[in-house]
Amino acid sequence: MSFTSLGLPPWMAECLKNIAITKPSAIQEACIPPILDGRDCIGGAKTGSGKTIAFAAPMIAKWAEDPFGICGVVLTPTRELAIQIADQFAALGSGVGIKTCVVIGGVEMTKQSRDLKEKPHFVIATPGRLADEIRSNGEEILPGLRRAKFLVLDEADRLLSSSMADDLATCIGALAPPEKRQTLLFTATVTDSVRALKNQAPKAGKKPVFVHEVASDEVAIPATLTQSYLFIPSYVRDAYLYSILTHEDNTSKSAIVFVNRTATAEQVRRTLEKMEIKTVSLHSEMPQRERINALAKFRAEVARVLVATDVASRGLDIPVVEMVINFEIPADPDDYVHRVGRTARAGRRGESISLVSEQDVTLIQGIEERVGQKMEQYGKIDDDDVVNNTLRPVSMAKREAIMDMDRDGFGELRKTREKKRRLKEAASAAVKNEKKKHRKKKGSS
Ligand code: AMP
Repeated sequence: MSFTSLGLPPWMAECLKNIAITKPSAIQEACIPPILDGRDCIGGAKTGSGKTIAFAAPMIAKWAEDPFGICGVVLTPTRELAIQIADQFAALGSGVGIKTCVVIGGVEMTKQSRDLKEKPHFVIATPGRLADEIRSNGEEILPGLRRAKFLVLDEADRLLSSSMADDLATCIGALAPPEKRQTLLFTATVTDSVRALKNQAPKAGKKPVFVHEVASDEVAIPATLTQSYLFIPSYVRDAYLYSILTHEDNTSKSAIVFVNRTATAEQVRRTLEKMEIKTVSLHSEMPQRERINALAKFRAEVARVLVATDVASRGLDIPVVEMVINFEIPADPDDYVHRVGRTARAGRRGESISLVSEQDVTLIQGIEERVGQKMEQYGKIDDDDVVNNTLRPVSMAKREAIMDMDRDGFGELRKTREKKRRLKEAASAAVKNEKKKHRKKKGSS
């Protein structure tokens, strides 16, 4: 099977060949023809299965037939994913001069607003910032958005969660109605809310929705991934982490260490740095510029370890990752699937190691049930060696890291943001109140 036999133009196949992509993956084979045929599409895909190209290639091919204004809007839950998707659009559309615009929080709004007004061909956005743009610059950008022919909901299960609902509704409300555009919905985990969309009756004048769902007995875990666990007392997690990272088999491997909270990400990063392991972190409390820099350093292998919260667990495509370590176990088994999917991507080998303490046993059982496999015990670490050689220096480094965080006022940014949010809410409540009073007064006069 070739990309041209799926209906893509030869120049697009050539472009894919230039980035060493010659044979369509399963999701590409399934979804590209119906997208080219004008159908709405729901794609359930394994992590790292090539879903970005499954939607980007046919959208760009369609745009090239009629290159005018905003052709597509791609919504994705995190800023890093938006940047990554935009990079793929740029790579595929480099020969035909496509213009993309990334609309994400954490970066200055003025330039983004200007770029949006200049009618890029594809807008790749997180719902929060695009909704802000629509609310503040609606008149100037709505006509362009209304003409978009495609809406992509990437990582749709996350986008459809309640925390993003309002912003998502604002973004979708700014576009043409569903019967006048194609809606492409991609997700690694097909949840009930996603499935509900599939069951809706087709709108008048529309072809039925095409659905590519991963078969229920097929789990979204790559076959090239080895999953193991290490049973440890919870208060010595850092020492075990250090022992794994410095084991002779692992010293040259690049690794993502997942934690459950931003403060833990910061503390683990600082501890590992003090133990002379080149480490960067990625979490929501870092300014966007620092997040981009940290990822760039990790991609370029300047840093061997990335310590991250679940901000990085979805979709991020970093080919060099050989190991994922769950420093803490996620409460939701789907998050586990996303985390370990950061390694063993596109047919490469990878391993995941989960640090399991006494409180995590039921979580691990839930995960094993979700992925349909039992994990093996990680056999490379000797408990006596950890206690006798690693525990003391790592504990000292951790203590210093915690003191440094206190000195640097870690957590202040969140407090300031929270204060701003409360002030904004109070201001908008006051405006609403005023309007209500005004209406009442008018009504009685
Ligand atoms: P995604 O699932 O979109 O995050 O893609 C994961 C990785 O697979 C990216 O690095 C893509 O460049 C790569 N990829 C996508 N499609 C193919 C393909 N057909 N053959 C080989 N690699 C691919």
